[in-house]
Amino acid sequence: MCENIVNYNAPSGYGYISVNEKCGNTNAYGNTLVCNDCQYDPTAKDHRANAKADRESYSYAGYGEL
Ligand SMILES: [Zn+2]
Repeated sequence: MCENIVNYNAPSGYGYISVNEKCGNTNAYGNTLVCNDCQYDPTAKDHRANAKADRESYSYAGYGEL
């Protein structure tokens, strides 16, 4: 992940609004936003996998979802 801003359309009322979120944030659909740079960068996926592993180790330790 990086500091790039990802633009996407989120549902709002009867239509959609244009939203700018930082790369790596979760969008309105619960998906991780990835900028074009990271999308084709294998190391970005590694970062995601590490973050997931961190969350799993937390839940195993009884801390639950942070
Ligand atoms: Zn990025």
